[in-house]
Amino acid sequence: MTYDLVIIGSGPAGLAAAIYAARAELQFVVLEKEGISGGQVLQTYEVNNYPGFKNISGFDLADAFRSHAESLGSNFVTCEVTGITRERDKTFHISCEDGTEYVARSVIACTGADHKRLGIPGEEEFAGAGVSYCATCDGAFFKNKTVAVIGGGDTAFEDALYLSRICEKVYLVHRRSLFRATGSLVSLARRAENIEFLTDMVPKEVCGTDGMVSSLVLKSVRTGAESSLDVSGVFVAIGMNPNSALFSQITECNKEGFIITSSDCSTQMPGLYAAGDVRTKDLRQIVTAVADGAVAVSSLVKYLSE
Ligand code: NAP
Repeated sequence: MTYDLVIIGSGPAGLAAAIYAARAELQFVVLEKEGISGGQVLQTYEVNNYPGFKNISGFDLADAFRSHAESLGSNFVTCEVTGITRERDKTFHISCEDGTEYVARSVIACTGADHKRLGIPGEEEFAGAGVSYCATCDGAFFKNKTVAVIGGGDTAFEDALYLSRICEKVYLVHRRSLFRATGSLVSLARRAENIEFLTDMVPKEVCGTDGMVSSLVLKSVRTGAESSLDVSGVFVAIGMNPNSALFSQITECNKEGFIITSSDCSTQMPGLYAAGDVRTKDLRQIVTAVADGAVAVSSLVKYLSE
């Protein structure tokens, strides 16, 4: 059969798209890699910035999204998509690792992005227990505490500034003495009394006590000397890897690999939409991913009726 829509990925963007597709009475299927929905939200210990939920675990929020989509009749299939082509008849052919193929008149890429990891000891062990990849998601848990932000780009500086309003002290740790971040952000951070720059330093190990982060070991790239910072949180802001490889053959991505989209989530390939963290956008949050899912379906409904 030819579906109206195949949604690839079942994080917040994919689940919101499923809810809107069901309401639009489209023939659609959601292809998910793991057989569990939620994407990065599943790694979030507590969410307190999604309207309507003062405090909810990432798992419970993802489960609520999924139940909602299922209650409207959404069909989920576990399948690792390995290829996608657009044929002369304008249909998309989506092939899966298990040999199955789906044919659809439109596709929404909701494959998300993964935060780059430092790859140091303790990072994985304390993820969600002091190690965070999202200051605006987790910053509130570090009120009046001391934290470190790793990175020298716009995200690291925005995170440091955001955290400086919540935390007692913020160390900005960067491996060079020059910053990639926009000058105005650097100036703002320099003016913040509780942000201290630690440059030419690389993180070596995250250490903890009682299962929570308590310090960060740093190494000077100039002298090789190691030192330890007492911190309750380590915010890693060293960039993101979008999961866009599948789509880069059929549409344009920017130099960082994010799928280039218009504000209606359409890509440069007619019928292909992108929603959530995999697309070019300013703010990558659950609430904006969900909004993208709705916008993408609304746009493609118009496309399908043309
Ligand atoms: P980014 O610009 O790629 O910066 C990543 C930073 O992390 C760099 O300073 C890099 O150091 C450092 N880094 C990378 N790998 C590292 C490692 N293994 N260990 C230690 N440090 C490491 O990433 P981003 O800040 O997330 O920004 C991504 C894009 O989004 C950029 O184009 C940025 O301008 C944009 N952005 C825009 C806004 C905004 O307009 N408001 C906000 C956020 C992000 P080096 O400098 O030495 O390479």
